[in-house]
Amino acid sequence: MSAESVAPRGPSPVLNEENPFEAMMERFDAAAERLDLDPGIYRILRHPEKQVITSIPVSMDNGDVEVFTGYRVLYNTSRGPAKGGIRFDMGVSLDEVTALAAWMTWKCAVVDIPFGGAKGGVVCDPFRLSRGELERLTRRYTASILEVLGPESDVPAPDVNTNEQVMAWIMDTYSMHKRHTVTAVVTGKPIAMGGSKGRREATGRGVKIVVKEALRELGMPLHGTKVAIQGFGNVGSVAAALLEEEGLTIVAISDKTGAVYNPNGIYVSEALDWIARNRFLEGMPHCEHLTNEELLELDVDVLVPAALENVITRRNAARIKAKIVAEGANGPTTAPADAILEENGIFVIPDILANAGGVTVSYFEWVQNREGYYWTEELVITRLREVMIRSFNEVLAFSRLHEVNMRTAAYMLSIDRVAAVHKLRGIYA
Ligand code: NAD
Repeated sequence: MSAESVAPRGPSPVLNEENPFEAMMERFDAAAERLDLDPGIYRILRHPEKQVITSIPVSMDNGDVEVFTGYRVLYNTSRGPAKGGIRFDMGVSLDEVTALAAWMTWKCAVVDIPFGGAKGGVVCDPFRLSRGELERLTRRYTASILEVLGPESDVPAPDVNTNEQVMAWIMDTYSMHKRHTVTAVVTGKPIAMGGSKGRREATGRGVKIVVKEALRELGMPLHGTKVAIQGFGNVGSVAAALLEEEGLTIVAISDKTGAVYNPNGIYVSEALDWIARNRFLEGMPHCEHLTNEELLELDVDVLVPAALENVITRRNAARIKAKIVAEGANGPTTAPADAILEENGIFVIPDILANAGGVTVSYFEWVQNREGYYWTEELVITRLREVMIRSFNEVLAFSRLHEVNMRTAAYMLSIDRVAAVHKLRGIYA
């Protein structure tokens, strides 16, 4: 029996373009159908392995007790320990965490690192919590999901509104329960306590590597190639600096205050200096000021959405002029927009490939923790380059073989890898 008989076909008439779980599932279904996936394996992969919902009581500074809701979803662990970030945000929901955990499963498989996928989150506004409240929240959340955590079972990392300090608290709480220091239980730690060199720049560096591969593939030069980058945070600013170093011209960048544009090029170091002094790009001199929406539609060669999800939709996809879209952000393009970009011949490097540099160096961090031997930055960069170039070319080969776009190819390749392991392992009765 083919997947035909089990997978819902075509976009659902009630599809919510911006629902993360539906967006992920639509791509998953398209890839499963192309792969002619075994229906039993299709059913397994359409469900999360484990979802933990926990109530987290926290003593607030004013003496009150507040109870927060936390989630940890292990989507699939067939290829290895679950891997995925923890976010602290008011928008966290079980649906969103599950979709992101599935995404992590495909992302780890597409770069062929031996991890499954997970995600976690706590519904809270961290900006309204004191440092002490945030620490107590983090430690109680960690204690409440202790049975799923572990270097061999589930390894969190930072995500929206969590950082190195939060990872340090998680590592300490877990280690206190285990009665010895366990560095490999989280990644994205401070370097002083087992973090990896090159982790901070890893996602932006990965974006640069795959953009270079795509330019080579399309026969486009590095020098003078025009780039617009939405989002000038960790991913966007590192990608901008490294692409500039390679000779590309960064003509537009943006943050939540808007975009700045100079057709002759923006010096990334000047923009970084401006941000260091003024926090936001707003008011930066020698540039035209545009909206974030206008940035997406600029006449450039490469567009890197590196801020938010759902920014390229059926409403603006037809106006995108870039020849290459490299998705630094998670989920910047909605499923209906995919078809429009494809029709217009735009080469999309999908998020699960383009921004996989971060999880790849997280994997290196976990390996170094378990080896107890730390790599030089050069070694981290060399191995990251190897993984990203190999993965890009494997996805490209799959896209040619199956005559599908890069996104469908990336999903097909990763689902195929996860499915192969399920077949080999069989089902424990
Ligand atoms: P960040 O917080 O460092 O930077 C985000 C940037 O986006 C900032 O410049 C911010 O001003 C801007 N921004 C926020 N709201 C905006 C809006 N409404 N319009 C335009 N810009 C806006 O975050 P980051 O770590 O660079 O992550 C960016 C994206 O990349 C996210 O989708 C994240 O999930 C994804 N990602 C990050 C990593 C990583 O290692 N950091 C790994 C994989 C994927």
